[in-house]
Amino acid sequence: EQEKLKTYINKESVTLDNHKVLVEANIGKPKDCVNANKYGAEGIGLFRSEFLYMENDHFPTEEEQFKAYKEAVEAMKPHMVVIRTLDIGGDKKLSYFTFPTEMNPFLGYRAIRFCLDNPEIFKTQLRALLRASAFGKLGIMFPMIATIDEFKQAKQMVEECKKELKTKSIAFDEDIQVGMMVEIPAAAINAENFAKYADFFSIGTNDLIQYSMAADRMNQQVSYLYQPTNPSILNLINMTIQGGHKYNRWVGMCGEMAGDKTAIPLLLGMGLDAFSMSAPSIPKARMVIDNLKYSDAKVLATEALKQETSQQVQQLVNEFLNKNN
Ligand code: PEP
Ligand code: MG
Repeated sequence: EQEKLKTYINKESVTLDNHKVLVEANIGKPKDCVNANKYGAEGIGLFRSEFLYMENDHFPTEEEQFKAYKEAVEAMKPHMVVIRTLDIGGDKKLSYFTFPTEMNPFLGYRAIRFCLDNPEIFKTQLRALLRASAFGKLGIMFPMIATIDEFKQAKQMVEECKKELKTKSIAFDEDIQVGMMVEIPAAAINAENFAKYADFFSIGTNDLIQYSMAADRMNQQVSYLYQPTNPSILNLINMTIQGGHKYNRWVGMCGEMAGDKTAIPLLLGMGLDAFSMSAPSIPKARMVIDNLKYSDAKVLATEALKQETSQQVQQLVNEFLNKNN
């Protein structure tokens, strides 16, 4: 079994009826690209940039960040590296910055909300990202977007940074893709409108499920509500994918669900284009994809979206997998 899995490290992610997707890795540091390549990642779907901020005793400088981002894009060439801008606040604190004390940190001053409120900190990161984009294929992704205005404001700051760099004749990729995480239900529901402005979506199911079910993802006592296959969640995911596709945007997923064997046929059937997960999960995910038909997965997904409960969906998927594997 282990030997068979290994053969999937160097294969393409393509169904029996020739539908191509990407299986990618989530990373936290540039050095993790070694492991991503070892397991055959077709890109990085999520580079959490928090480590640069949390391991330092100061806000990382543009130069410090540039070096880290450049290392990652160079290591993954010719594949794409999607780097998420700072997702700090909430439960993630910094030793050198005082965040306000909040009643509900997960609903509070964090991620893009913090960045839009601190343009100098945000633009330092954006300049570093743009500069690194001259050395490979880099995508910029904003976390925790809830409204169109937030996305437009963040995008506007990218444009300002591009202008600054141009004035100084500093190189960057003019066609750099700027996308967003879909991890707040409001964004999933409005995905079709977001797709007019964002170059891509990446669905963050860890938070999307937390916010949809109103269940703290860290609280064991309510962990039964973490239900990736709940039809409510599946419908939000489906809306996101169809909304993105309407404007020809690619739609990925970088939450835990993307690497879950029983979720993969459903996600594939809904049309998900990229699956990003922890590197060791890649061969198994690819094996699932390579051994099924896209046309069958579509029928399964359509059926699943009409179910009432998570259990009913699980049962459909189990029957499907038994037939197909
Ligand atoms: C998510 O919310 O699904 C996600 C990928 O981001 P994080 O786990 O870093 O919140
Ligand atoms: Mg998240």
